Amino acid sequence: VQTARARAEADPFNALISVLSAEQIEAQAAEVSRRLAAGETLPLAGVPSVIKDNLNLIGTATTCGSRMLAHYVSPYTASAVLKLQRAGAIIVGKANMDEFAMGSSTETGAFGATLNPWDASRVPGGTSGGSAAAVVSGMVPLSLGSDTGGSVRQPAGFTGVYGFKPTYGRVSRSGLVSHASSLDQIGPFATSARDLALILDAISGHDPHDATSLDAAPNFVASLGHDLKGLRVGVISESLGGNTAGVEAALNTMLDALKELGASVGEISLPTLQHAVAAYYLISTPEASSNLARYDGMVYGTRVDASDVNTSMSSARGQNFGREVKRRILIGTYALSSGYYDAYYSKAMKVRRLIADDFNRAFGQFDILVTPTSPFPAFKRGEKVSDPVAMYAADVDTVGVSLAGLPALSVPAGFETVNGVRLPVGIQLIAPALSDEQLLTVADALE
Ligand code: GLN
Repeated sequence: VQTARARAEADPFNALISVLSAEQIEAQAAEVSRRLAAGETLPLAGVPSVIKDNLNLIGTATTCGSRMLAHYVSPYTASAVLKLQRAGAIIVGKANMDEFAMGSSTETGAFGATLNPWDASRVPGGTSGGSAAAVVSGMVPLSLGSDTGGSVRQPAGFTGVYGFKPTYGRVSRSGLVSHASSLDQIGPFATSARDLALILDAISGHDPHDATSLDAAPNFVASLGHDLKGLRVGVISESLGGNTAGVEAALNTMLDALKELGASVGEISLPTLQHAVAAYYLISTPEASSNLARYDGMVYGTRVDASDVNTSMSSARGQNFGREVKRRILIGTYALSSGYYDAYYSKAMKVRRLIADDFNRAFGQFDILVTPTSPFPAFKRGEKVSDPVAMYAADVDTVGVSLAGLPALSVPAGFETVNGVRLPVGIQLIAPALSDEQLLTVADALE
């Protein structure tokens, strides 16, 4: 744990926003030792871990990468983090992120960009890019992020680690700062399917503090070590973002490996997925605009003194939210306003239903579906950050799954060499709701 703390302090890729004090780390380690001495079995005993900075941990700053929460100290610990600690993990740091988990590159946070450890001129993906960089750089073996539209899967793909987005409701959101509540899920990063299984067994399950959490017993470790004979794999035939040659090659290599392991591979078209990005941004921004209304500098958020309350609140929001967060609040408020609601929000909700139906139809024929995690490997820092539509389009392969609430896993699937630099490529495996475990069976067999 002390080595991990030293690595967290060094942090050459700006993966973290804060490191816990030596005392805070010692206290967790002492608790783990005490419980081990008492004869408890702790599957993650003493494993140093990092959590994204939108997850509350009592006594630590939870900034969400925003000036708005720069001084906010958590009064309690998120349920998933508490469960991770109960399994023996020791939290050493809080990971960098896009402000309020809005973005796809970990560049928009108030505390600087995270660098991709494979090529420091490139982004690690987002919004959980800090959590991904912490694992791939060897700082810690596991981390937690959050995934609203791809924020665990896409950075996992861009950094070459495993990243898992559970079925909506399998992991409690209590203590995760809300971005878009009907989409948000906490998910882990690790370097093997087995490590993911240990984390998922620890953090999933019903939680009385989150009414949307599901009562499904986690069975992840038990799902490892099975063969894939008879598994029906469907490749989504729409290549939504126009995949690069390296991404296509990685996809084909994975399909060959699946066939060799006894799976059958077929193609399936999901035509509604072409509308997923548009629907996602018309559903997530209204939810975000509602969730972010609480940051007024009065109850929550950095206060700005002024002669009257309205000026104080508008100055607090004007000064402390970054450009992308303001853009989302404006889009979301617009889409929800009377006169536009039917044309935008309500229409997007209908598309959401059609996308879920399309997935259900596909799962009538196939056990799992396969697509790239992203149409391209990690892009350059600065390349998309001033072009919101290009940034939003980076999510084409992940947002449909989020709208349907399905579980999905990004698996490291090879490399694409760009200008002489090897960049990781991720392939996304998608399962029916509540069949999360099946994704680990497949990933484990592929290892
Ligand atoms: N890139 C998407 C967005 O900006 C997804 C973010 C996320 O999953 N938190 O909304």
